[in-house]
Amino acid sequence: MSKAPENAQRHLVWLRADLRITDNTALSAACSDRHAQVACVYTITPAQWQQHDVAGVRVDFELRHLRELKTALAALNIPLLILKVPDFSALPAALRQLVSAHDITAVFANRQYEVNEIARDNAVTDALTHTGVAFNLFHDQCVLPPGSVLTGDGRFYSVFTPFKRNWLARIDTTGLSLLPAPRARAACFSEGDPVPASVKGFASHVDADVAAQWWPAGEKATLQRLQSFCRQTLARYDETRNFPAQDGSSRLSPYLAIGALSPRQCLNAAFNFRAKNGNSNGIEQWISEIGWRDFYKHVMVGWPRVCRHQPFRLETASIPWRHDEADFQRWCEGRTGFPIVDAAMRQLQQTGWMHNRLRMIVAMFLTKDLFIDWRWGEKFFMQHLIDGDLSANNGGWQWSASTGNDAAPYFRIFNPLLQSQKFDPEGDFIRTYVPELANVHDRSIHAPGGSLFSTYPAPMTDRSGVKERVLQHFREIKGFAD
Ligand SMILES: Cc1cc2nc3c(=O)[nH]c(=O)nc-3n(C[C@H](O)[C@H](O)[C@H](O)COP(=O)(O)OP(=O)(O)OC[C@H]3O[C@@H](n4cnc5c(N)ncnc54)[C@H](O)[C@@H]3O)c2cc1C
Repeated sequence: MSKAPENAQRHLVWLRADLRITDNTALSAACSDRHAQVACVYTITPAQWQQHDVAGVRVDFELRHLRELKTALAALNIPLLILKVPDFSALPAALRQLVSAHDITAVFANRQYEVNEIARDNAVTDALTHTGVAFNLFHDQCVLPPGSVLTGDGRFYSVFTPFKRNWLARIDTTGLSLLPAPRARAACFSEGDPVPASVKGFASHVDADVAAQWWPAGEKATLQRLQSFCRQTLARYDETRNFPAQDGSSRLSPYLAIGALSPRQCLNAAFNFRAKNGNSNGIEQWISEIGWRDFYKHVMVGWPRVCRHQPFRLETASIPWRHDEADFQRWCEGRTGFPIVDAAMRQLQQTGWMHNRLRMIVAMFLTKDLFIDWRWGEKFFMQHLIDGDLSANNGGWQWSASTGNDAAPYFRIFNPLLQSQKFDPEGDFIRTYVPELANVHDRSIHAPGGSLFSTYPAPMTDRSGVKERVLQHFREIKGFAD
């Protein structure tokens, strides 16, 4: 190992939702001075996490992943420091102290776009600037930075299709230039800190063996998943993606949420696959899903109110959503008597993840059939999802509740029975998660009714009045057009 020159710069990379070595803009920038000594820091802010409804399963995943990352960083002579403070408000002082204790000359981080995160970074910028240390922030979370894909008259897009057209036109589809992992450094100024096994108040609701099997941690496991998805599923993704009984989507969302993987790496893998194997609807569709991820982040920057529990379409704020605790509880526990809904909610309980088609079905069921406030569902999802992400989750919930931009029209209400018959035709998914129905092998599995199967609940609601009630409430909103 070579020695760092006496006057070497000392750089600190603050890792947040970008827990990876490859294609990490801030890390790469910090390492661009090859003589600089570089350390990373990860901050634990339990009270803030509580306020943001971060799921225990997600915290556990991050910590497992961080342990792997720490080892990989150590091989580059980049130590990982851990800083624990209650919440964001304590960070400016704590970081200033850390910076001065280690004589850090510059701090680097990738931007986050939620309102509290932006306010936090502004406060940290002020605190560090006072001590003469630059806080360098980079766009890294999206394929294209929010604000760079705008309508002809310079506004953020609120509709996906034109956004996607413009977004695609700006991406070099012959291949994105990914940033390589930095080279090993000379000796560093710190040994780093151990990664805690857990954080108090954030126990995972998912069994540890199930979590380790479903969600292996580490950058190597992440890239392996991306590669095997491309090899096995990508070309036919358009045909497989809607069937929860199949392994038909990438299941990369937890990795994208914590930044174990960048969306550019995803696109690059898809472009490379296309260059070798030719185009297909599957490839185009998957690229489009990565586009949705960017889209909702851009929307969050364009309309920050979505971070503040407000509907995108403000006129829907007057909708008298129900706040029925008992009905909500049945939905949470997967005891609604609608097998596809219950199987989905139990998948979330058991694995910390839910298939996209099912997220739409259960969200529609909660907001339309039960007419319960979408914010209750949004919160419950955040508290249980391993891939919990404010912009995607909020986008999904407001889509389902018809309060969002480019949302499902309020009169187009999913029928859980038809959805079940269409997307789980054999009932395989239901049988996996609803053991009470494990022996039902005919089409009655979609609507068992309750009487024949005593351990399985009867449907908690009669669907006959659903559409009328929803239409009535939405039509009462003055000037609401779909
Ligand atoms: C009510 C509701 C809540 C949701 N909450 C979240 C959430 O908290 N976090 C989250 O990452 N996704 C959320 N989604 C979007 C979507 O369901 C998941 O991203 C997807 O199921 C993840 O599975 P996958 O990785 O196999 O996706 P794939 O089908 O393989 O898609 C690849 C990637 O594209 C992105 N993506 C796909 N669909 C969407 C979408 N509709 N919106 C934004 N990004 C998308 C994800 O990063 C995903 O990993 C939500 C959707 C709904 C309807």
